[in-house]
Amino acid sequence: MKSKVKKEIKSFSIKSKLLIFLAVFTAFILIVVWLFQVFLLDAFYERIKLSEMYEASAEMANVITDTEKLKSVAEDVLSGSMIFSKVYKVKDSKAFLVMSQDWVGDYFLKHASGDELTALFESAMNNGGVYHERKTVGNYYGSEDKSKPNDSDRVTIAERQKEIIYVRLIKESGELYIIMLNMVYTPLNSTVQTLNLQFVWIAGIVLAGAVLFAGIMSYYISSPLVRMNESAKKLAQGNYDVDFSNDSFREARELAETLNYASSELSKVDKLQKDLIANISHDLRTPLTMITGYGEVMRDIPGENTPENIQVIIDESTRLNELVSDLLDLSKIQLGSIKFEKNIFNLTKTVKETLQRYKKLTEHDGFVIDFISEGDVYVSADRTRILQVMYNLINNAVNYSGNDKRVMVTQTVTNNTVKISVKDNGDGIASEDLPMIWDRYYKVDRVHRRAIAGTGLGLSIVKAILEAHNSIYGVETALGYGSTFWFELPICPVDDVSNDQTV
Ligand code: ADP
Repeated sequence: MKSKVKKEIKSFSIKSKLLIFLAVFTAFILIVVWLFQVFLLDAFYERIKLSEMYEASAEMANVITDTEKLKSVAEDVLSGSMIFSKVYKVKDSKAFLVMSQDWVGDYFLKHASGDELTALFESAMNNGGVYHERKTVGNYYGSEDKSKPNDSDRVTIAERQKEIIYVRLIKESGELYIIMLNMVYTPLNSTVQTLNLQFVWIAGIVLAGAVLFAGIMSYYISSPLVRMNESAKKLAQGNYDVDFSNDSFREARELAETLNYASSELSKVDKLQKDLIANISHDLRTPLTMITGYGEVMRDIPGENTPENIQVIIDESTRLNELVSDLLDLSKIQLGSIKFEKNIFNLTKTVKETLQRYKKLTEHDGFVIDFISEGDVYVSADRTRILQVMYNLINNAVNYSGNDKRVMVTQTVTNNTVKISVKDNGDGIASEDLPMIWDRYYKVDRVHRRAIAGTGLGLSIVKAILEAHNSIYGVETALGYGSTFWFELPICPVDDVSNDQTV
């Protein structure tokens, strides 16, 4: 049940989510504003009034012993808020009025009885020397006896005004003084009512604004996503020309760039796959046609059953075999189903052995393959696979070596690393093709020439094998000046060579 609700929340559109978030946020702000502006307004107002009285009493306390100064200070500080005040000096348990600051108005202190004053004094004594009390003002002048209202007067009179009585005891020069202040203020009831009404309007306007804002924002955020989704659907159907570009916010633009990049890569892969099918079927068909053709000739025409014709059939079958095993090898390496068996072996010797394979080529077709090395070097690697790398690189160098038919294999040692380079003086590789030559099925030479019958898999096999050995590899090439393909392997220390199993 819970997960269902969660799922439903997750599947909300951006618009609904934004709306919910904004509504909650707006409500939160409105509640905070309401609390402070309406609910706590009176309390804040009262605090301000109280602090005014506290400050006034503090100033009066500074000059409490000098009655003249006290009078002038009291007039100064109390006139602003019309604070009524009485200052007493206590002597022999009796209080003597030192000063009184009177204003026209309805003050409790003006009419307080001796008992009431004593009660206030005692409250201050018990409260650490400071005491304050709130009261609702009785309209003393509205009562029949204008000198002193009775309790019922106070209750019946509309609660228009409030008052605060503030008492502070001061000990100065061994004498005890009592400052009694009395302030009357109008409570903010009507202001609160106004604010309440305003608040309802404000809440309505702000909520409507939030809805509008959520709508605009969600449109702004979701419209590029919706468009990109439409394009992505087209891409999924194999339309690689779709454009995800948009001019909205940065994240959407970045996503669009990534999707554009993904679609261009997908289109490349798609093109490569199509090329592969074309190439492989071409490569398979050519030897098959030859085999069938020669077979039929040998069957039908007497005397054609010559060793040369049989050799053609054998050569073409070998090529077919190579092609199929290249494909199998590559997919196995890439799937990781081939385990590389590392053994320590003599790399120099292995390279020399590989070159032996090309003896026929060098003898009959005039190829010259040189090998330059300084001493034997041992490495720890999968010998069969390194042989495969060598075979592919030399094969390519021979295939693309051009008219001079020279290939140079060099073994150099730096620090603890051996570098094998295979150099030809052929056409070289154009810089725009360079990044792709290591890709599967990539062939620079689009026009199929029988003389160069590559499968487009050789370098990707080389790459996969060398990467599995953590070897650094690369190519240096310039159009018209040939290419040098190279790879590096760490040299095995001579002490370990005693374990050599394959030399
Ligand atoms: P192929 O079987 O076509 O040779 P590879 O994967 O071995 O496939 O090579 C990929 C492409 O790289 C080749 O089609 C060729 O265009 C280019 N290439 C590889 N080696 C050389 C080289 N020595 N000189 C020029 N081009 C080369």
